Amino acid sequence: MDAADELAWCRDEFRLPEGIVYLDGNSLGALPRRTPERLRRLVEEEWGRGLIRSWNTEGWVDLALRVGAAIAPLIGAGGDEVVVADSTSVNLFKVLAAALRLRRGRREIVTDADNFPTDLYVAQGVADLLGGVEVRAIPRARIEEALDEHVAVLMLSHVDFRTGELLDAAALTEAAHRAGALALWDLAHSAGAVPVRLDDWGVDLAVGCGYKYLNGGPGAPAFAFVARRLQSDLRQPVWGWFGHRAPFDFSPRYLPADGIARLQSGTPPVLGLAALECGVEAVARAGIEPLRLKSVNLTELFVALLDQEFGGRGMEVVSPRDARRRGSQVSIRHAEGYAITQALIARGVIPDFRAPDLIRFGFAPAYLRHVDVFDAVAALAEVVWTEAWRRPEFLRRARVT
Ligand SMILES: *Cc1c(COP(=O)(O)O)cnc(C)c1O
Repeated sequence: MDAADELAWCRDEFRLPEGIVYLDGNSLGALPRRTPERLRRLVEEEWGRGLIRSWNTEGWVDLALRVGAAIAPLIGAGGDEVVVADSTSVNLFKVLAAALRLRRGRREIVTDADNFPTDLYVAQGVADLLGGVEVRAIPRARIEEALDEHVAVLMLSHVDFRTGELLDAAALTEAAHRAGALALWDLAHSAGAVPVRLDDWGVDLAVGCGYKYLNGGPGAPAFAFVARRLQSDLRQPVWGWFGHRAPFDFSPRYLPADGIARLQSGTPPVLGLAALECGVEAVARAGIEPLRLKSVNLTELFVALLDQEFGGRGMEVVSPRDARRRGSQVSIRHAEGYAITQALIARGVIPDFRAPDLIRFGFAPAYLRHVDVFDAVAALAEVVWTEAWRRPEFLRRARVT
């Protein structure tokens, strides 16, 4: 399978440690091969020698828009609809508040009860700040029926971070629009692994993560998308000078920049942006359709091997079995999931654990091989059948799981 893999070359775009099977690229993408040299040059030459001049001479001032434009084709957006700034949480705050402002008179945010907690917290925070806004976090199956004339915005994550379920973003966006609401998508677990067609689907607003399948490194800045048709009316609430029409006029009054640039607030994180640019390049060269094809092959193989090894005994696959409804991860449920995860990590197979009982295996298609899938299942079988997880050091909870 690896010999026939048309994306096999792409693994060389990354630096992976010997002997490690890395199945957590959905939480922290691997290190792109070019990033260390890019950062060294940025620090030593552009910063060290160029100093303040580099804002102009090295194009730092446009980097947030340039990296946004590089992400755009991966999510089916125009190059003028995406900007990189802040974190996913902060971008969510900005676009969610902006959405409520665009739908004045409507006072409900509808979201998924199983949404990622930061998304729920941000919505609660926006509602708390604005007053009179209600967050309705409801079971996924009942979302469409909750959409009515009171709803300002439907805010959802494209891929469920626990189960990997892939939501039908086109249909749900259409349902939001039928009710007169805006559709806001969090692409944290899809950008770079699952094809996203924001413009074709008519999506209004989106945010996503730089350090997962886009490989920007720990705490990489995030991206935000605003459909072109909404940009001139959109007001986000953090009015900083980098979102101003003319920051270096230093005028006392805020005037938002034209276009997507108005989503910026403060000075862009140049080091993080440069690293993210390397990470985006590494996946953009592969192309999102071939990445998806490989991702589906990897997750299908993993599920088939799990069935062969466990046949359902004590090991429940909670991810959808239909690959069309699954992102790039497979999660299994086991009462001793935490200890099993630690025992796997001790063997060089790295998934992660999500409380209370899920082990998540992420399959970053840009750098994983099919042999990694075989090795992961073999290690899992050994840990489970020999109960190798029953060691005190595997039961001790770390702060990051
Ligand atoms: C990873 C993730 C985030 C992360 O947000 P940060 O602000 O980067 O911490 C947000 N939403 C979803 C759905 C995620 O999966």
